[in-house]
Amino acid sequence: MTDAGYDPADEGSQLGGVHIKYLHHCPRQLWLYSRGYRPEQRSDLVAFGEVVDDTTFTRRRDIDLGEAKIDWVTTGAIVHETKSSRAPAPAHAAQVRHYCLLLERRGVNVRGGTVHYPLIRRTIDVTWDANARAEAEEAEALARTTITAATTPPRLKRAACRGCSYLDYCWGD
Ligand code: SF4
Repeated sequence: MTDAGYDPADEGSQLGGVHIKYLHHCPRQLWLYSRGYRPEQRSDLVAFGEVVDDTTFTRRRDIDLGEAKIDWVTTGAIVHETKSSRAPAPAHAAQVRHYCLLLERRGVNVRGGTVHYPLIRRTIDVTWDANARAEAEEAEALARTTITAATTPPRLKRAACRGCSYLDYCWGD
């Protein structure tokens, strides 16, 4: 679950799943991320997530779309995403819907998605239908608007920032 460079100046440039996840978590995080601020690259939490990701499903193959890397896709076009989190969040399903949208734009007849939470041994199914497509398109449009905002979006309330890899930047901790 990574993405390649999104160019805000290029209207045809596609957003990755991380952009959508950050939009749902915190618009400020998306804004900073889109400008190249990447503290998550040295975050212990992110490193932990990558280890969980790498060791949970050793036989799966990433699907690299360029702008987004999908964890894997099974027969019938079910998109799979693995999270190291112990708490399912709307952002995770939104990320999967975005992958469904990207695949559909490439002509794939997508059936849906599944988010895997190996640490709590749970999976969440993500529906892919007209409503889900509309949600994905709406999120994409909102992400583009957020990214192109002239000023940094405000911080969330301090309590909502717990565990965010941008904490140092936003709060000077
Ligand atoms: S620390 Fe808080 S305000 Fe800053 S990016 Fe993270 S969630 Fe948003």
